[in-house]
Amino acid sequence: MRQKVLYLILALFLIGSLASSCKREDGYQEPLNNPSEKQSVKENQKNENDVDRSEIVQAKDLDESDLNKEEVKAVEKGSDFNDSAQDNLDLSEVLAKGANIEEIHEIVRVYPSGKVLDLTGVEKSIWETLFYAEEIAQDVKNRIVGKSYGENCDVPFEDLRYIRVLYQGFDELTHIGEMIVNTKIAEDVVSIFKELFEQGYPIEKMVLVDEYDADDNASMADNNSSAFNYRNIDGSDNLSLHSYGLAIDINPKYNPYVKERNGKTVVLPENGLEYTDRNKDCPYYIKKGDICYEAFIKRGFTWGGDWKKTKDYQHFEMKKEDK
Ligand SMILES: [Zn+2]
Repeated sequence: MRQKVLYLILALFLIGSLASSCKREDGYQEPLNNPSEKQSVKENQKNENDVDRSEIVQAKDLDESDLNKEEVKAVEKGSDFNDSAQDNLDLSEVLAKGANIEEIHEIVRVYPSGKVLDLTGVEKSIWETLFYAEEIAQDVKNRIVGKSYGENCDVPFEDLRYIRVLYQGFDELTHIGEMIVNTKIAEDVVSIFKELFEQGYPIEKMVLVDEYDADDNASMADNNSSAFNYRNIDGSDNLSLHSYGLAIDINPKYNPYVKERNGKTVVLPENGLEYTDRNKDCPYYIKKGDICYEAFIKRGFTWGGDWKKTKDYQHFEMKKEDK
């Protein structure tokens, strides 16, 4: 009897393995119904993009492999404090484990922008050091070359700074934000965002426009706040001040760009159309005299909402000669 059962198990095992090894030879692939399979296809596509990026990097004589090792090391270090680098970062836990300021910076430096940082019980003297400007490092170059820092870009890297700040999201949680601005205004921009954060000013998103392949419309439609992008003014041949990192757009979907062109009104982003009515009660509107307006204006910026014909409610700029 026991032998019969063993034979039966063996037979079932053989049928099972035969079925799984049967593949269609006509190249047909089953449609992907399993989300995790879809995910892995997506990841493969992403890897292909990475290959493209590394080609550009190679052409520029940049060594990405060493850099990635550094990134991985720091993320792994962050993972010591969290189960996964994808989790949000509890800064008080990091501190409780004895990390010093340098170690905290190393961890937060490579933590993806947008992630939530839990500052419960963390002193201001510590979290305010997470607002800073730094030179354009290799990992940032790798992200922007060929995108916001296009082929024709003649702005030296020395004229630009990568800034990291914290901001209060629409979800009222603390998020990590990033931006590239001109060296001349970098310290001012850092203090503007520190001021906005301390006053609980809501910002939805703050990642480099390169996350949208430097497509300003896509970035605006996603309500992403950003600055540097080597590009012309919409509908013109003139370079925008964004090309020098001298202009900053805040919550662009709720503060659209409105322009009359050939008797037609152009609104960018298109999904910001309903927010051209500035009398609506919307907490994300930038208005003359509010916290955001004052933070920029008192440091010498001008606001696109004050322009006479065209209105660019999201836009603050510093003219080159003003600084
Ligand atoms: Zn702008």
